[in-house]
Amino acid sequence: MKPDFDIGIIGGGPAGSSIAAYLAKAGVKCVVFERELFPRPHIGESLVPSSTRVFKELGFLDKMEEARFPRKYGAAWTANDDTKAYNHDWEGMRPDCHAMFRFEERAQVGVDKNYTYHVDRGKFDLLLLQHANELGATVYEGVKVTGVDFSSELPVVKFTMGRKEMGVSVRMVADASGRNTLLGNQLKLKIQDPVFDQYAIHSWFGGFDRGAAAKSNAELDYIHIHFLPISNSWIWQIPITDDITSIGVVTQKSNFAKSKKEREDFFWQSVDSRPRIAEALRKSTRIREFKAEGDYSYAMKQICGDRFVLLGDAARFVDPIFSTGVSIALNSSRFAQKDILGALERNDFSRASFKTFEDTIVLGTRNWYDFISVYYRLNVLFTYFVSDKRYRLDVLKLLQGDVYDEARPEVLEKMKAMVSEVEQNPKHIWHDLLGTLTSDAFVPQAS
Ligand SMILES: Cc1cc2nc3c(=O)[nH]c(=O)nc-3n(C[C@H](O)[C@H](O)[C@H](O)COP(=O)(O)OP(=O)(O)OC[C@H]3O[C@@H](n4cnc5c(N)ncnc54)[C@H](O)[C@@H]3O)c2cc1C
Repeated sequence: MKPDFDIGIIGGGPAGSSIAAYLAKAGVKCVVFERELFPRPHIGESLVPSSTRVFKELGFLDKMEEARFPRKYGAAWTANDDTKAYNHDWEGMRPDCHAMFRFEERAQVGVDKNYTYHVDRGKFDLLLLQHANELGATVYEGVKVTGVDFSSELPVVKFTMGRKEMGVSVRMVADASGRNTLLGNQLKLKIQDPVFDQYAIHSWFGGFDRGAAAKSNAELDYIHIHFLPISNSWIWQIPITDDITSIGVVTQKSNFAKSKKEREDFFWQSVDSRPRIAEALRKSTRIREFKAEGDYSYAMKQICGDRFVLLGDAARFVDPIFSTGVSIALNSSRFAQKDILGALERNDFSRASFKTFEDTIVLGTRNWYDFISVYYRLNVLFTYFVSDKRYRLDVLKLLQGDVYDEARPEVLEKMKAMVSEVEQNPKHIWHDLLGTLTSDAFVPQAS
């Protein structure tokens, strides 16, 4: 039986459009089903430099430059400076309540720019989807996939058009449906994270003074992460245009629920715990409705199987504290396309054909997850490591998105060991600062 298309792709976000672009560029007949009409707003606006490799491979970098998205040269983390933890010296490391770095401090293979971008996702996602289309992928917008029928020899992607139920046959499916996790739900693969249950409230603001907590003008175009004195909570500050800044409060869902406040009140109460930022934000103008995001953090029992792969958020969602989501989506396509092309060539679409992809993504997202876990458990440790010459470049490597080539990076092992030490020593000056989110990941194994 001849299929309608070689590959059916569910979703036209960064994962869907990048896999479509890779495959179309290689001459593969593929189709993207996207339920929305682009441009549509989307969360996830700050990129990391490992995205640049994908843009280059897809011939998309010139379009990123032409679009004049704000350039992101670095990142900064700020905290109130009255915490006693910042006056403590440990193993020769001294923390600062203000940590920052520039991407140019560490050269990255295949990334010859010293910056990445902040993007308006409506515009970015549209450009990337159009690029896939120009490379030869068929794109259907406003078409919602309802499921995939795997009962015949070839999978059939089922969708609705108006009131009509239709289907196309394909040789395999790439699910890039984001946190909607279409196949993960259908095949009952989803596992909710036992620890992380974060919740975000965010909006765009015009005329916000990005220097409110910055140390120098060089930092104005950075992403800023502002720690809040409230447990497991922080604010993001992301430039969207010269004038518009995206601001979001991230907290544990239980903090929000306990507060019994309306979204907007909770947002302002959280921001008020950082007075300088609050003052600057109140002087600016909110230009969008407040929006909330929940359903955070899950994994899948498997991210590929006979005739399918899961990409981007459809495969896994880790807390986006380090601006990782779009990079993971793009890089999951970068790794998956190699295995998919091999499967097409051998006409073998069994799960084993996608093993390299699966192993690489599992390793990379595991590293992100460990990094995030350490961060939430003891975030003062993070600024210690960023500020220390011995570890700075190793931390930067992770923050640049280079997480796929090393299981158990040394710097993460060191961080975990230090967390464990603090956990076991109630007299340690940081003991009281331990966050409540822990997966017991740092408890030493009994020998
Ligand atoms: C609060 C928050 C802050 C974040 N901040 C950042 C950040 O700063 N930087 C960053 O890189 N990432 C961030 N992320 C993560 C980022 O949003 C995602 O990781 C990224 O969008 C994943 O891309 P994707 O293509 O996998 O999924 P998506 O971008 O969600 O795309 C999925 C697409 O599939 C479509 N779709 C869904 N179901 C169907 C269906 N049944 N039929 C057809 N189409 C369908 C959707 O309409 C959508 O267009 C953040 C996430 C959250 C929640």
